[in-house]
Amino acid sequence: MAENERNSFYLKILAADKVFCKGKAYNVILPAVDGQLSILAHHADMMAAVETGELKYQTLDGEWHTAVVGNGFAQAINNRVTVLVDFAERPEDINILRAKEAKERAEEQMRQKQSIQEYYHTQASLARAMTRLRVTGKNI
Ligand code: ATP
Repeated sequence: MAENERNSFYLKILAADKVFCKGKAYNVILPAVDGQLSILAHHADMMAAVETGELKYQTLDGEWHTAVVGNGFAQAINNRVTVLVDFAERPEDINILRAKEAKERAEEQMRQKQSIQEYYHTQASLARAMTRLRVTGKNI
């Protein structure tokens, strides 16, 4: 077995509306709820909750790829890692104006009186917008 085969695992990132990516990878770094989680080949089987944030993965050509992902789960079983998230976006596909407007909307809602449920909803929306802007370098 070639060296790169031995050090790799099969990665699949599924968003609600699409298969974001699938193929061999050396590493994936996930925004897990309790901090960044790096998964390499032959990781012990596990399950982790993923939250809105930046995900990075390295493909067999050595390239690192970045994605903004929403809430979901990651599962490692038998050298296969599946990430199932609400949404997954490449930085170049992010609409910066839309994210800025979403951030402003959420910040305005934060200043208003809200129910607890509305507050969590707004907080999640703000986190999505801020992550999109941070990853595209436009969080100003
Ligand atoms: P917004 O507050 O701007 O609507 P959102 O996160 O609430 O953002 P939704 O309205 O739930 O988004 O729409 C979901 C779809 O839109 C997903 O496919 C998501 O990837 C995409 N999307 C949301 N915001 C952006 C953005 N700024 N750039 C590119 N795609 C986006």
